Amino acid sequence: MYYNEETIIYYNGAFVKAIEANGNVYDQTLHYGYGVFEGIRAYDTANGVRIFKAQEHFDRMRFSCEAIGIPYPYSNAELIDISYEVLQRNNLSDAYLRPLVTCPPNMSLTKGRGAQLLIAAWEWGAYLGEKLLRLKTSSYRRISPKNFIVEAKVSGHYVNSILATQEAKDLGYDEALLLDMEGFIAEGPGANIFIEKDQTLYTPQLGSILPGITRATVIEISKELGIPVIEKQIRLEEVYNADSVFLCGTAAEIIGVESLDDQTFQKPWSESIGAVIKHAYKNLVLEKDYKNVHAH
Ligand code: PMP
Repeated sequence: MYYNEETIIYYNGAFVKAIEANGNVYDQTLHYGYGVFEGIRAYDTANGVRIFKAQEHFDRMRFSCEAIGIPYPYSNAELIDISYEVLQRNNLSDAYLRPLVTCPPNMSLTKGRGAQLLIAAWEWGAYLGEKLLRLKTSSYRRISPKNFIVEAKVSGHYVNSILATQEAKDLGYDEALLLDMEGFIAEGPGANIFIEKDQTLYTPQLGSILPGITRATVIEISKELGIPVIEKQIRLEEVYNADSVFLCGTAAEIIGVESLDDQTFQKPWSESIGAVIKHAYKNLVLEKDYKNVHAH
């Protein structure tokens, strides 16, 4: 459960009990999906509780708000302080943080008349679990950059993600893979994708996807480990023929893929580059040295 009777959240300028926080039923966000959120993880590291890539997440939250006209009167420093206090007040160390910016009552389709900030936190295991995933190509396409600002993490965009995930699950798969409007692969409903072919990682270029902070971290780690990464438009057939495939995201972390549309890949996961990256990522978030690491 995300909260109980004791859970403390930060909401509109104060630390309050989650069950006593009151939103306004006329909030613009509630009616139109016009809000912005983030998903961040904190880890119990060798150096104490640390929020991973907090600056990057709050930079993206500012970008998202500015992109769609929601006022953003916050500094990263203030948001990071509040986030640590939410963790501390709830006695959390390994936890997921959910900042959300909502807009006050406004029934017209005009830009936000103010910003309301919520920061909640809860314990959340690996979002997609630990087992290798069976993916299904979605019949829904990823939202188009011609219709939305896809780089912004806007609440309403996630109806697209909900449709895709639910469809995949209803068909007996673990998760969906969405194509972009041109038919190239885009991303999962809440995670980016990498494929391995001939000792090189490939990932969809920016343009139709959320620029994931984990995606950027995977690219960083790969550079450190001397693994080539190429960002480009990728066709479904290239995924079917991949040596290995993985998804990555803050909530999902790094998770291997067993099959896409029931087609499996050339390499066993344990021998894949993804397994090496997964191990390195875990060490990085725990503030341990991750260079010269091996998967086993
Ligand atoms: N794509 C989508 C659609 C997402 O919702 C997420 C999760 N925020 C990601 C990718 C991964 O982004 P990040 O690594 O920043 O969590």
